[in-house]
Order: sequence, then structure tokens, then C-alpha cells
Amino acid sequence: MLAVLALLCTLPGAPGESVRIAVGRFPDVVEVKAAGLTVVADGKRTPAERGVVRISAGVRGPKLGGRELRGDVVRLEAPGTLALRGHSYRYVLEVRWRRYDGKPELLVVHPLELETYVTGIVSSELPGGWPLEAYKAQAVAARTFALWQKYRRLDLPYHLEASVLDQVYHGVEREHALATQAAAETRGEVLTWHRLVAQAYFHASCGDRTESAREGWGTELPYLPGARCGMCKLATRYGWNARVKRSDVDRALKPLLGEPVRTLAVKGRTASGRAKDVVVVGATRQRIINAADLRRLLGYSTLWSTFIDKLAFEGDTLVVHGKGTGHGVGLCQWGARGFADAGKGYRDILATYYPGATVRRAY
Ligand SMILES: [Zn+2]
Repeated sequence: MLAVLALLCTLPGAPGESVRIAVGRFPDVVEVKAAGLTVVADGKRTPAERGVVRISAGVRGPKLGGRELRGDVVRLEAPGTLALRGHSYRYVLEVRWRRYDGKPELLVVHPLELETYVTGIVSSELPGGWPLEAYKAQAVAARTFALWQKYRRLDLPYHLEASVLDQVYHGVEREHALATQAAAETRGEVLTWHRLVAQAYFHASCGDRTESAREGWGTELPYLPGARCGMCKLATRYGWNARVKRSDVDRALKPLLGEPVRTLAVKGRTASGRAKDVVVVGATRQRIINAADLRRLLGYSTLWSTFIDKLAFEGDTLVVHGKGTGHGVGLCQWGARGFADAGKGYRDILATYYPGATVRRAY
């Protein structure tokens, strides 16, 4: 047994990487529960009574049981999982007091092994029942994205946020066996470009063609030129319709136009066919807005993408038809599934969406 342990510990790259994720912000109180919960604050370790701790955001620092602490960070440890706002996290949460926009708040950060994080992301991002090669492609993309974010945010208390802004991480409760297998079978593998960690963006479904990084983000990345996918037709929102009340359009665009909207029209398209800009016309003036900004103003779950082929008022309703979900840059998740169903391996799938990028083991 000892020999087996020794062997495991000497496997190349065994130590791996870790990441720090922001899992919540609280303006006043944060409550964490765990069996065997230990609170580490101001250099002291204290078992939490009945496995519950409440920390509040004082004016000058965090408060524990109404008492102000000297340090800004409270570390919470447990032998198993810690429960925070309906999600479960393994072993450690850090509650960090800070000022944000001039107001005190508590930021909760979860440090964890990168491989555990990758398993969680694959489980949260993709539904169950997909082919393994699709999960493996997603695992490499998620690991690459996390490492890239980590090394550009080393000076911050966290590297990633558990939201659609970064990658959706829901804690351990959604982990499923295929995601664990996909992470294990691609352990340490990342996409690189000239030996640098690539920016491995991904999204739900592209609607046939992915967007280039230049047109999606304004950043030229040789391995994100926009790709022909053609494999995401099974996606939940391969084609979608949105209906927005005129009054809601007016409210959303008032800061921009300053008067009610009469018409909206797509102005210019990117090489993939997505809307570039939108002309917003009122009675006395007009403005041009980036299509991505229109999406933000009308809601990301109203306009699912900028791949819009109809944008017109019908009476008092704005009717929008579009294709695909998300920004459209990088790996198309539903397309990865389509390719995997058709028998492609994860490396071929990655080569489709990140042409020229090389898969290497980072650890
Ligand atoms: Zn696609």
C-alpha cells in the first residue's frame, strides 16, 4: 500500500494547479454551515457552535458574533463540504471584508484544485448524457480559460467569478461521473499558442459559424479566426424568437436615445453573419449602438445572441429572430456534442474551434 502511495505521489505533475473563485458577495451578513466547521480568524482556530457561523460586514472590518475582528479575512474549514446559499463547496471558504463602491461588503472566495474546478465547470456547463469526447473538449477549454484568467489576475484575491462572466461554477452538487472522467483523461492539458496559454473562450451554440475574436472582442487572436461549425442544430436555441414590449425597449434605450424609439435596424454584419451595429431611430435623432450592447441593454436572456436576422417592430412589440446562444467565440458546446456524436475525438473538436492552437500538458 505504501509503495502504491509513493508511486502515486511521484507521478509526473502530480501536484497540479489551484484556482481561487469568487462565489458570492454579501452586503451585510454571510452564513456558512458545515459538519465539523472550524473558524480561523485573527490567528485563532475555533470550532463553530452547532456547525454554523455568521459573519457580518462591519464599517471597519468583519464582525464575528457582534465582535469586530482585527484582520479582514476569516477562513472557514471543514473536513467535508461547506454550505453557502444553497451550494456546497469542499474544505475551505474565505470570507474577505472589503470596501466596494465605498460600501463595506463580504466577498466569499473558494480556493480549490484546478482539476476539481474543471470537473465542476464541465458538470455545470453541459447537461448529462452527452458523449465523453464533448466533455473532454469542454474540460480542456475550461482548464485553459481558468489558467489564463489566473495568471492575469494574480494580484487579485480571486482569479475567477462563479458567473456567466467567467465560467458557471455551482460547487460540488452537480458533479457527474462523465465530467470527472473527462477531467481525469485530459488532466493538465491546455490549449497553447506559441507555448503561451490560449484564450479558450466557449459558448452554448454558435448557430452554424463561430465569431472571430477580432469581431467578438476587438482582439486579434490567430487561433480564433471564426470557424464553420454546422453541428449545433440540436441546440435548445439554435433558432430563437424574442418579443419585447415597446415600452420596455424605450426604457432600456432611454439613456442612449433620450426619446421613444421608432425603429431599430441592423447596420453591418461581421464575417460570420452576426449583427455588428444597430441603428436606433427616434422622432428627432438617431444613435448607433454595438449589437453586443443592445444585447446587454435588452437582456442576455432576451436576445440570446447577436446572430440576428430579424429586428423590427410589429405594432407595440419588437420582434427579434436569431440563431445560437452566447457570444459565439471559441468552442461551440452543442457543436462539440454534434462532432462527438459523429465520432470525432476531443483533439479534433478543439482543432475545429481553435485552429492552430496546440494541446500541451501544463502539469
Ligand atoms: Zn455551433
